Order: sequence, then C-alpha cells, then structure tokens
Amino acid sequence: MVKAEAVHKSFGPVEVLKGIDLEVAPREVFCIVGPSGSGKSTFLRCINHLEKINAGRLYVDGTLVGYREHGNKLYELRDREVAAQRRDIGMVFQRFNLFPHMTAVENVMEAPVLVKGESKAKARERAAALLDRVGLAEKTDSYPAQLSGGQQQRVAIARALAMEPKLMLFDEPTSALDPELVGEVLDVMRDLARDGMTMIVVTHEMGFAREVGDSLVFMDDGVVVESGNPRDVLNDPQHERTKSFLSKVL
Ligand code: ATP
Ligand code: MG
Repeated sequence: MVKAEAVHKSFGPVEVLKGIDLEVAPREVFCIVGPSGSGKSTFLRCINHLEKINAGRLYVDGTLVGYREHGNKLYELRDREVAAQRRDIGMVFQRFNLFPHMTAVENVMEAPVLVKGESKAKARERAAALLDRVGLAEKTDSYPAQLSGGQQQRVAIARALAMEPKLMLFDEPTSALDPELVGEVLDVMRDLARDGMTMIVVTHEMGFAREVGDSLVFMDDGVVVESGNPRDVLNDPQHERTKSFLSKVL
C-alpha cells in the first residue's frame, strides 16, 4: 500500500530524511517509533503531500506520490492531481484541529460535502454513523469546546474516515491527551485495525504497537535503524540506538 525507496527530504541545508526504505502491506498496522527530531512526522507529511521529497520514490497504492514518471524523468503533478491523491489518505494529528465553530457532525460531514459534492442529507447520515462507530452517538451536536480531548480526537478520526480513505496516517494521536483519555482513542484505532484499515501510526504507546502492530520500525536521525515484528523489536532490539531509546521509553 505504501512503498518508500531511498526517500530523502531536506529543509534548506538540513537533511531530515536520509534514505528511507520501507513497505507497508494492505491492511497492515505499521508503527513508527523513534526519538524527537528523527523525522517521523516529516515522513508522514511526505506521504500526505504536506512536504515534497527531494530524492527517491514514494508510492501509495502503486501510484507515485506527487510526481508522474515519464521515461526516466519526473514531472510534478498539478494541484488537481495532488488533491485527488490526498483524498484517499486520512491523517490524524497530535492536535485535533477541529473547526471550533462547527458541531461534531458538521466537522465530519464538511469534507464529503465540500470535496466530494455529497448531498448534505447523505453526508449527515454517514457522519452520524461514523460518530456512532467511534462511540460518540450522543455528541453529534456538541461543539469541540464541549468535548474532552479524547472525544475531540475521536471526532477527528471520524472526520478522516468520512472521506473513505484507503490509508490512515496517525501522528502521535494520543500524545496531547491526559493519560486517562488515551485508552478510548487507542480502542477506536484498534477497532479500525480489526476492520482491515491500512494504518501508519507514529506513537510512543509501545503497548499498542506490541498488541496491535503488524510491523514496527525504529527511526533515528533520518534513517530506519531497525524494523520487524513489533514484539521482536521491542523485546529484543538488535541495535545499540534502539536499545538505548527503548530503555528510556519502556
Ligand atoms: P517528534 O517526536 O518531536 O515529533 P519527529 O521525529 O516527528 O519528532 P520531525 O518533526 O519530522 O521529527 O522533524 C525532524 C527534523 O526536521 C527536526 O530537526 C525539525 O526541526 C526539522 N524540521 C521539520 N519540519 C521543518 C521545516 N518545515 N523547516 C525546517 N526544519 C524542519
Ligand atoms: Mg513528530
């Protein structure tokens, strides 16, 4: 579903991704862990067109991200083509980024109406069903300020799902939450995984990675240091840098 081949990304003179190679299979829960500044968010942002890679190849569902290949040359996609690629990818951030002036159900139905041209009635019906799915059937008409952080994050997940993405990206979705609210968000993600959603999850929740993850990579300083089955990597890390990181977070 996602394939990265020697992906490089620099900001000015600073190289942040120094050749990332990885592959995410359909229906896989793929966890990324690593220290602050290692390039985890940057990598997710490249998949979702929030950043452009400088070298290498990035594919989602067999399609090159952001470029068209012709002969040996790459041509940048037009805005409309980029928008079409982004439509298939849902992203959930550390901060929930809900529209504060809209209710939960309005937040969830916004993109299908605006981007897909869905009728308001149909979008509202689907949004209500999605809110039910994340355990918020009672909160459809609440505004973000009336919801807890965990509830807001679940609305954010429902909002991403409303576009029927084939891939979901999570960037530390529970890091901004009070500890007692982390579980309800992880539960929703666990359900999503059970339903077969392909997910890339940047997280510090090693319990979640161990239990729900199919694969895990440890990133440090812009490279993948170690990868494998989450249980194996977390229980028996092979590299010094992985050992040292895990000893601090586990
Ligand atoms: P954290 O765990 O703290 O979220 P991370 O692994 O997600 O860290 P990134 O946010 O990808 O790390 O950042 C990697 C490096 O790239 C950092 O040194 C950061 O300062 C730098 N960086 C990220 N975005 C930009 C930008 N837009 N301009 C310049 N430098 C950037
Ligand atoms: Mg980050």
